[in-house]
Amino acid sequence: MTTSLNPQFNQGTRSGGSRQSPKPYRGRFAPSPTGPLHLGSLTTALGSWLDARAHGGMWLVRIEDVDTPRTVPGADQLILEQLKAYGLEWDEEPTWQSERTSLYQKGLDQLIAKGLIYGCQCSRKQIEDVLQLAGVSISPNQELIYPGTCREQHLSIENHALRMRLPKDCVIGFVDRGLGKQSQDLHRQVGDFVLRRADGLFTYQLAVVVDDQAQRVTHVVRGADLLSNTARQIYLQCALGYETPHYLHLPLVTNTAGEKLSKQTQAAAIEMHSREIMLATLNRAAHYLGIADTTLAQQISIAQWLGIATERWNDRLVKECSS
Ligand code: GLU
Repeated sequence: MTTSLNPQFNQGTRSGGSRQSPKPYRGRFAPSPTGPLHLGSLTTALGSWLDARAHGGMWLVRIEDVDTPRTVPGADQLILEQLKAYGLEWDEEPTWQSERTSLYQKGLDQLIAKGLIYGCQCSRKQIEDVLQLAGVSISPNQELIYPGTCREQHLSIENHALRMRLPKDCVIGFVDRGLGKQSQDLHRQVGDFVLRRADGLFTYQLAVVVDDQAQRVTHVVRGADLLSNTARQIYLQCALGYETPHYLHLPLVTNTAGEKLSKQTQAAAIEMHSREIMLATLNRAAHYLGIADTTLAQQISIAQWLGIATERWNDRLVKECSS
């Protein structure tokens, strides 16, 4: 059985959080435990914490260790210690995705029952070959647009990767709180994407959507590097009958070569013992978030710094509402 989603939805723009009555704000920071926090991930944590505090809402921490082979032992505890040292306290017990796989299976079962999933046995090399034959040039580590090779093969869903079957007409629009109107043609720009890998691991796309719903997250605040994943996630939310949260993608912190700070670009772990250095780090993060000012540059306690930063963020929210 093959079903396609409501075409109105395929054409429509989801502004996020378009609820009948506003729900209490729940935000989250969702680090992958591949190493300690660096200036880039701290900036994301700070932005999402400030947004939650300025809204008088709840802030959750979710350790995204669904991709177990990439997980670095001990990185989760280190991240939690770093957040605490910077005063970014969470409101509910942190969660670990590796302990929530039965929820992801339930979400997947729902999609299977709707006929939206199919098994795929293509390796990356095979996909590259098909794309190259079709004249597509491919750079290393590039995300490949799946050409649909296994779509009509009716392979078993047991031992294969599982992909989401997208309708041909699948333009997803949404409004980002910072970046404004966004749109992505999922069929042409992404292709049928993987929800469970051949090794049985659930992918980020499925886990994040199921978790945001299960944790009643109303506001997603995260780095702009994830912007191109949002349309896929909105599509999944619709397919699963979930609500779409509000999205705000924050500016990326880059090194002098213009690369995103990450483990791959050898970003340094943030300091967590000297108040002076921590304040300087917070000020650098505030600069990227666009809220740096002279009051924040004073020698004050971390708690006072966060209090002033929350006021600055609140001023920004007032502008957001009136624009
Ligand atoms: N785990 C992702 C990361 O560390 C963030 C996912 C999200 O915020 O949706 O990049």
